[in-house]
Amino acid sequence: MKQILITGGAGFIGSHLCERLLNEGNEVICLDNFFTGSKENIRHLLDNSRFELVRHDVTNEYYAEVDQIYNMACPASPPHYQYNPIKTIKTSVLGVMNMLGLAKRCCATILQASTSEVYGNPLIHPQTENYWGNVNPIGIRSCYDEGKRCAETLMMDYYRQNKVDSRIIRIFNTYGPNMDPNDGRVVSNFIVQALKNKDITMYGDGSQTRSFCYVSDLVDGIIKMMNNEQKFIGPVNLGNPSERTVYNLAELIINLTNSNSKIKFKPLPQDDPLQRKPDISLAKKELNWEPKVDIKEGLLKTIEYFAKKI
Ligand code: NAD
Ligand code: UDP
Repeated sequence: MKQILITGGAGFIGSHLCERLLNEGNEVICLDNFFTGSKENIRHLLDNSRFELVRHDVTNEYYAEVDQIYNMACPASPPHYQYNPIKTIKTSVLGVMNMLGLAKRCCATILQASTSEVYGNPLIHPQTENYWGNVNPIGIRSCYDEGKRCAETLMMDYYRQNKVDSRIIRIFNTYGPNMDPNDGRVVSNFIVQALKNKDITMYGDGSQTRSFCYVSDLVDGIIKMMNNEQKFIGPVNLGNPSERTVYNLAELIINLTNSNSKIKFKPLPQDDPLQRKPDISLAKKELNWEPKVDIKEGLLKTIEYFAKKI
């Protein structure tokens, strides 16, 4: 049994991690400031004596005795991370510094949730980990992209300078139950709109691509990365390489929900990446990991969740 800290544990991915790590017999401290996370996501865990919920902001120091830290705290949807951009970059940079300090003091292993956004609007396709990216440092997405890039730098510097046991994962678009219906990301927006027979808000002409990973697959990869015995630190891409246009995603969701919704075109937001697909060869080789859940199966589970929720 390990003592595990999960920052952002009440969020979408964090809540799935809390559940999985508790089911595996660990003690879990879930730390969250509830900016985008919700107590609903972890309410069913509160009676477990190995689970502890702490309201705390990662931009402030936190002390506990732990063996592992999953640093997931950070708003992830563009509307949420752009709502208070200064806070977003502080969450990434001060948050990881505080967690690295804690990891150093406890000799804990720390895993940083980085993102495909470190590649920006990528000029190589699919994206491999050795690509340094094409990121606008002064745009509306920069608070998130550059915050996450700086967090990766800090992870590597604490690893080289202080020998902190580090792991970096770059998560590509992930979806599933426990996403906030008002989160603003494409899968949640389209499903909620389709279930309510409202217009589907298509930004741009819908030809931009993304590759969507179901949350249970991602959680498998995250836990494998944390516990890999080769002490492989990454960064490693975790995502589903099955690429599709955003337009195709809308059609699929309208179809699976039997919706009467019509597609309504809206302007493409500034710096919205035009294509994104992970090369997951490294994850396959080092972690023996690849996603298993196909998009229809994953979307049906997610639709079922939102249908109950709204
Ligand atoms: P989410 O918004 O659902 O979860 C983030 C959690 O962090 C929330 O519970 C929120 O309240 C908490 N949080 C935010 N700021 C905080 C702070 N200052 N102190 C403490 N808690 C704070 O998002 P998610 O999709 O679950 O993403 C989790 C992590 O994975 C994030 O770091 C995100 O950048 C990364 N990621 C996610 C995706 C994806 O597709 N879901 C893709 C790439 C990277
Ligand atoms: N998108 C869209 N309609 C929406 C929300 C998003 O067309 O209601 C598009 C968005 O412009 C982007 C893609 O879907 O091209 C994925 O957006 P999301 O915010 O989910 O994630 P990210 O851009 O960070 O990959």
